Amino acid sequence: MLAMAAARLGYQTVVLEPQADCPAAQVANRQIVAAYDDPAALDELARSCAVVTYEFENVPVAAAGHLAQSVAVYPPARALEVAQDRLAEKSFLNDIGIATAQFLPIENDSELAAGLQAFGGSGILKTRRMGYDGKGQRVFRNVASGGFDGACASLGNVPLILESFVEFEREMSVIAARGTDGSLAVYDPAENVHRSGILHSSTVPAAISALTADAARKAARKILSALDYVGVIGIEFFVLPDGALIANEMAPRVHNSGHWTEAACVVSQFEQHIRAVAGLSLGDANRHSDCVMENLIGDDIARVPALLAEPDVAVHLYGKAEARPGRKMGHFTRIARRG
Ligand code: AMP
Repeated sequence: MLAMAAARLGYQTVVLEPQADCPAAQVANRQIVAAYDDPAALDELARSCAVVTYEFENVPVAAAGHLAQSVAVYPPARALEVAQDRLAEKSFLNDIGIATAQFLPIENDSELAAGLQAFGGSGILKTRRMGYDGKGQRVFRNVASGGFDGACASLGNVPLILESFVEFEREMSVIAARGTDGSLAVYDPAENVHRSGILHSSTVPAAISALTADAARKAARKILSALDYVGVIGIEFFVLPDGALIANEMAPRVHNSGHWTEAACVVSQFEQHIRAVAGLSLGDANRHSDCVMENLIGDDIARVPALLAEPDVAVHLYGKAEARPGRKMGHFTRIARRG
């Protein structure tokens, strides 16, 4: 989607990705098939490009650092570093005055037992790194003391974080961008529904008050400025029954909950990101239509013929060869026409 947006602005793209003929390579000018940390491949990428960006927050920070020695890399390495570790991420958010769930680093089952006790018997244990779509998580609800033996091992004996359980009313996210000149553009908050830890749908406008929407926009601006960020960021929040916001996580990239911008805004999050990293003026982030974006996951791909026959539906398929359970195959956005 970034490569397509870049092409519309007259740019050519080179994709570095270990899987040959990956979805991005199908619409880019060239693919370098190599691991993200292959030094020769990174040097070739740097030689071929005026600017490098990423659309996956688990690319190694060292690879971004290596590239940055010879070519502009956006978003900055610090954003990648912070977003890759849930502990660093929550500490950063709290440091700049943005509320998160309570959290504790966890190394073993006895620390887990103590942490759960501190959080009233409920919490979510997550891997600090490499988690996405609800992977690497265990939920504990109203557990009495004991009975956690093996919980840390079941997540692979990697560094973990325990978060207090947030009794939220809804989930929402904000997509925002910052240009090389420090200018900001913030899209309307989307209300998100997750199923089995995977984003199911994003609805805009979200059913939140103007005050809550403003608070989310303000938090987004604060995060972008604090990181001296360039590019698009996605920030996920929980909304409490009183409208207060708890930040859950941030992704230093275009975000699934912003795919709706492709169909409901003049300038999508993808074009916005390309504009930002290319040093162009940011575009208008206003929405021209209300909409609902829904992911097509696994066998949902069978819905495509019916969706194509519907009016006011924009379908986007990713060109993945095989539909597997839980695999995002594409998405569609249904536009609500005005008047
Ligand atoms: P994450 O991988 O952190 O985005 O978590 C995936 C989903 O799990 C979130 O979208 C929420 O639905 C739920 N979740 C994560 N953390 C918490 C929490 N601390 N309290 C309640 N629900 C959570």
